Amino acid sequence: MTVSRIALLTSGGDAPGMNTAIRAVTRAALDHGVPVYGVHEGYEGLVRGGSMIQVLDWNDVGGILQQGGTILGTARSEAFRKSEGRLAAARHLVELGIDGLVVIGGDGSLSGADLFSREWPSHLQTLRAEGAPGADSASDELAVIGLPGSIDNDLYGTDMSIGVDTALRNIVQALDALSSTAASHQRTFVVETMGRNCGYLALYSSLAGAGSWVLIPEQDLERRWAEKMGQALQAGNQAGRRHAMVIVAEGARHNGLPIGIETLRQIMTQRLGVEARATVLGHVQRGGAPSTFDRILATRLGVAAVDELVNGQADPPRMIGLRSNRVATTPLTEVVSKSRAVNEMIEQGEYDTALKMRGTSFREILDLASTLSQPNPEHEPAAAKPIAIMTAGADAPGMNAVVRVAVRLALNAGKRVLGVHDGFQGFVRGRVEEMTWRTVSNWSSLGGTQLGASRYVPTEDDWDKIAQVIQQHDIGGLLVIGGWTGYQAAFDMQSVAASHRPLRIPIVCVPATINNNLPATDFTIGSDTALNTIVEAVDKIKTSAFARNRIFIVEVMGRTCGFLALMSGIATGAEIVYLPEEGISLERLMEDSTLMKQGFSRGKRRGIVINCDGASRFLTTDTIQRLLEEDGGEMYEARAAILGHLQRGGAPSPFDRIQGSRMAARAVRHLLECMTDSRPEAVCIGLRDEGLQFTSLADAVSEMDIPNERPRVQWWLSGRDMVRMLAQPKPDVHPVTGPISPPTQDGNGRAFSPAIQTRP
Ligand code: ADP
Repeated sequence: MTVSRIALLTSGGDAPGMNTAIRAVTRAALDHGVPVYGVHEGYEGLVRGGSMIQVLDWNDVGGILQQGGTILGTARSEAFRKSEGRLAAARHLVELGIDGLVVIGGDGSLSGADLFSREWPSHLQTLRAEGAPGADSASDELAVIGLPGSIDNDLYGTDMSIGVDTALRNIVQALDALSSTAASHQRTFVVETMGRNCGYLALYSSLAGAGSWVLIPEQDLERRWAEKMGQALQAGNQAGRRHAMVIVAEGARHNGLPIGIETLRQIMTQRLGVEARATVLGHVQRGGAPSTFDRILATRLGVAAVDELVNGQADPPRMIGLRSNRVATTPLTEVVSKSRAVNEMIEQGEYDTALKMRGTSFREILDLASTLSQPNPEHEPAAAKPIAIMTAGADAPGMNAVVRVAVRLALNAGKRVLGVHDGFQGFVRGRVEEMTWRTVSNWSSLGGTQLGASRYVPTEDDWDKIAQVIQQHDIGGLLVIGGWTGYQAAFDMQSVAASHRPLRIPIVCVPATINNNLPATDFTIGSDTALNTIVEAVDKIKTSAFARNRIFIVEVMGRTCGFLALMSGIATGAEIVYLPEEGISLERLMEDSTLMKQGFSRGKRRGIVINCDGASRFLTTDTIQRLLEEDGGEMYEARAAILGHLQRGGAPSPFDRIQGSRMAARAVRHLLECMTDSRPEAVCIGLRDEGLQFTSLADAVSEMDIPNERPRVQWWLSGRDMVRMLAQPKPDVHPVTGPISPPTQDGNGRAFSPAIQTRP
């Protein structure tokens, strides 16, 4: 069954990115010619009807992409929990001829949606018997799609819910800020994050923000847990750590009850003798503009939701989520029952089962966070066969986080670690230095690369020198963290190893470049940070453009790869994106100019064009700006903004730190295994369909379009359709100008009271 009208609501706790999803669902539906009704205040609006259910037009959802919260409002609805309430909701949908429903929310909201869809036939029967308006012609089924919107990340069926990445960003920024003041005064901080039943935010922010200890609801705080924590903090102190950071999820329990941050602080101060300051991050975690990841996630899921509805795929009702970077659907019943099951285990004190149910990645991160927070490695390093670590190619944010994890895990496994300065150039010159547990303290939040990098591929003469360095230091394995030049050099090194025996050592490459142009991986470390930098800059540019009718042509990095351009285009709602994969023709430029003029003649006040720096050799940003300015005449001005090197800078995003840490951990383990088995493999690690995978460098190189320095297959290019679909209405979609009006009365003619109880 294909739907003819869609209702859309946000429910439960608000989450940054909900607005982006509202925009995507609305515009994708309008693009398919399906009208959309926005329901205010979650299920409460459905129950009350009237002006709480309003048509959403193209322009109603303009300018909201970057706003936190939800323009539709969200509320708790006790009425919807009752059958009469849901009957009233069905009545209001039937009256408007609505046969599709998209619900964005957490597990409560999705279980409400599941129940409502299952009950629909019986509500319809009642309404038909009553002779309710629209009931006879109403569809026998209500097609329901759920989207995961919750900062807790406790929903089964998706790797990430909309809002989680932004919440992590907010927490990690706070941890970075607290770390600097804590270190100045040699202090211990206890920081409480949200998460009543799920330790995701606490655990992942602890990994990204270099926490010293973490307490989560999925862990059994057995007897003497406090003493163990105290001993660990004191050991850190004795090892020279200048500060400590204990991260506690609000739902972390002791004896079945939440510990509470104040009790924790008192235990630390009075029982353990550790003077601690408490910080509750509270609702700040939910706030602010959604991160780029959340915008892209919400857009992909919103578009997919409409696809399912118009293609008649919504039976049984499903949630659309993202698994291993692919859109994946799961029946709502399964989502709800499996998500609830973990909470029940925690309530019953079955912590081990709860932890297992969170999945392997969660447990892997727990182990990793606990190893990294040790004050010292477990083993004394063996004298022989150290591993060498270098960062190669251009620098990228997150490289330091990868090095930190790699160094500590190798040391913890009893290996010595040598840092190679300035990539392969430094290797040729023998610029090698011993690294210790302390060397990499505080590296996770540092941008750039402390080891230094170079875009240097060794020449014929260099290999003997590198072989000497390897022999001199007895290096047993090499970890290369970097971009394409790093991969090339590593591949060459393996190729020449037949004639230079000392070069026959295992090599593992970790993809790190802002351009995301490497083979055998969907993402490279650094690209998420660069995207966030670009998107934040464009958000600012957009507000300045409100002063006058203006088009901004924003030039972003990427050279031969349009990833940053296309993704930032989707995340900022750009009308036009120029990619090196397509090039720019004069013809296209003129078509785009005409499209822009049409938009401005319909009331548009600003336009954004994202131009990848390598999209065209001749039609440069400057030329595009002049041509558009000339062609726009009186209608608009055109201005250029070249973002340049700021795209490489700044503290790495949580995504880059976390994925970088996971990759580093696996890469080191693999390298050590190869060393033990005397297997001189050369491989790279990547994030792909089934999660983290290794690919031989030879296979990875064969996946590359070498002259163009980009992989032959680029998954993200499918996002091109979204730019057109979401930023420019088709000529037959007639946008109505004007902001969405707040609801005034419900279906019974009662005045709408904004004092509906909202979630705390
Ligand atoms: P979240 O969606 O963030 O988990 P809640 O658990 O508060 O938030 O659920 C939001 C709303 O969804 C509730 O106020 C209620 O209206 C509706 N809801 C939740 N569970 C059910 C249920 N079992 N039956 C009907 N409606 C429900």
